[in-house]
Parts: sequence; structure tokens; C-alpha cells
Amino acid sequence: MGGDRRNAVVTGGAGFLGSHLCERLLREGASVVCVDDFSTGNPDNIAHLMSDDRFSLVKRDICTGLEVDGPVDAIVHLASPASPQDYLRLPVETLRVGSAGTLAALELAKRTAARLVYASSSEVYGDPLVHPQDETYWGNVNPLGPRSVYDESKRFGEAAVAAFVREHGVDACVVRLFNTYGPRMKPDDGRMVPNFVVQALEGKPLTVYGSGRQTRSLCYVSDTVEALLRAVGSDHPGPMNLGNPVEMTVLEVAELIRDLTGSTSEITFLPGMEDDPRLRRPDIALARRVLGWQPEVPLRQGLAEVISSFRDLRAAARLGAVD
Ligand code: UDP
Repeated sequence: MGGDRRNAVVTGGAGFLGSHLCERLLREGASVVCVDDFSTGNPDNIAHLMSDDRFSLVKRDICTGLEVDGPVDAIVHLASPASPQDYLRLPVETLRVGSAGTLAALELAKRTAARLVYASSSEVYGDPLVHPQDETYWGNVNPLGPRSVYDESKRFGEAAVAAFVREHGVDACVVRLFNTYGPRMKPDDGRMVPNFVVQALEGKPLTVYGSGRQTRSLCYVSDTVEALLRAVGSDHPGPMNLGNPVEMTVLEVAELIRDLTGSTSEITFLPGMEDDPRLRRPDIALARRVLGWQPEVPLRQGLAEVISSFRDLRAAARLGAVD
């Protein structure tokens, strides 16, 4: 992280992405305040960081405000349910954290003159009519559909950041994260990668929703973390896509995961999800130019890491059952 941004706040720091970011920030020599209410985050994700005296945890719902003792140089605002299963289960909470939570994070940035990086999402593009998506595209979101609680909360968050930049001169950057995967995704969080890995390891059918011809572009978590760090260290306001432009169909991902696990599971087709984006692939020309960043971890390698971490979890659970 840039030399003068030593005191970082990570909202949603106990989540999948947040915990990897906290870990990396500590490795870079920063002090980290992790703020999380554990509504979808997991204390296990940060248990190994608790003994570091540069790490502190604030257990708090940021919708009630965000106070941090001491100086703050950088805020990375990740807090939100992120898996469709979670935000469909927590629709009002998702709207609230994207609106009240983001306003609280922005107030903190204003008070402390910290740089704030806001984790927006490829979901602001909805079911895109432009492919691949670049940052000039305004999106195609159904404002009343089931996914709108997430899509519109992220769109509101972007508007809030823009307003604080204009009105209060807050130093902020909107990044639009495309699908990120890696160890510490919850095995039961409902997303494609953990679902297919768990199903393959258990010899159960891999559940493809819809035709499986819909596409996603999967970015390994260490690549996303590197991009976030560079966004903190830059002075660009965004919006900036961060993701891996290698695009695959969902069916191809299912087949690849089945191959990598050596599983003989079938692939079964279930009804598609409402408003499921049909195509998704980031144009990352801006991030390449401004951050000098591009993803480095190939999909097969990243998936192998996830598979191995899920195997370890299963082995630990079996041992636990014996104890
Ligand atoms: N999906 C699937 N089977 C699953 C979980 C997800 O076919 O068990 C599909 C889902 O319908 C979507 C894609 O995989 O088209 C990615 O879904 P995910 O929940 O991982 O993330 P999203 O990109 O939709 O936020």
C-alpha cells in the first residue's frame, strides 16, 4: 500500500474477500481495523489475525454509524451480503448496508480525510446489453426484480460516493468487482464455485441453473486484493472494472471443476434464476492503464486452491466429528 496510507479500515473485513485483504494489508506493514457484524462474515476467517497487534476488530453494524479511534488513511468499503443466496435472504439488510452503511463509510472518510475505495459490483450492469462491459455502460437493471436489492444498493452506493466527492471533496474511488473466487468462500453460500466444488467432492450432481450457456469471468482472490491495494494507492476516482476477462459458460465451469476434482458426478439442469445476467465479462483496459494491473492466476490453478481448501475443511470436519 502507498507509503503514507498505513492505517486502514476494512468494512466487511471478516468476509471472504475482506479477510484476504486484511491479511495482505498486514503483510504490507499497515495497521488494520476490521469492521464486521458477522451477518455474512465469519470469525474463523480472521481468527489467525487476532494475535497481530496491528489488527483490531470492531464488531458492529455500520448502518448504525462508523467510529474508529486513531488516524485513518484508507477505507476499503466492502461490507455487504455478496452472494445471491445471501442477498435474496437478506433483502432489506442489503439495501440498508448499501445505502446507510455506505453513507457512514463516506462520513468517516470525510471526517478523517482518508481515501475510500468503494467496492461496487458488475451487478450495476444488470443483464448487460453491451458486451464486454466497460465503465461507460450505464447498465440494464430491473429495479423491481429480486436481484435489485443488491444491484440498486450498489448503484446507490456509487451515487453516494459521487455526491461526497462533489460536495465534500472526499478522495474516493469506485471499483466494480466482477466475480471473485478463492479459499474462504462459504461452502454453503450458494455461489457457483463453492456449490460445484462441494457437489463434486460429495459425488452429488452439479446443479447448473438454466441452460448453463450464461457466462461469467472469474478472478482469483489474490488478484482482486492486489487490484484493491493499487486502487488505494492511486488517485483515480473510478469507476473502474476489476475482474478477469477470461469468460466461460457456467456449464464449462461445472465441467472443469468436475475434472479437477476427479469426480464422476453428473451435471443436472435446474430452472434458471430470475434476471440472471446472461453474459458477463469485464473490459479492464482502464485498470491495466491506471493501475498497471491485470489478473495473473489462471483459472485451473485458482480452482485447484479452492478444491484443496475445501478438501481440508471436509477432513477437519470429519476429525471434529470423531472427537
Ligand atoms: N449457478 C449455477 N449453479 C449453482 C450456482 C450458480 O448454475 O449451483 C449459476 C448462476 O445461475 C449464475 C452463475 O452460476 O448464472 C454465477 O452465479 P453466482 O451465484 O456464483 O454469482 P453471480 O455472478 O450470479 O453473482
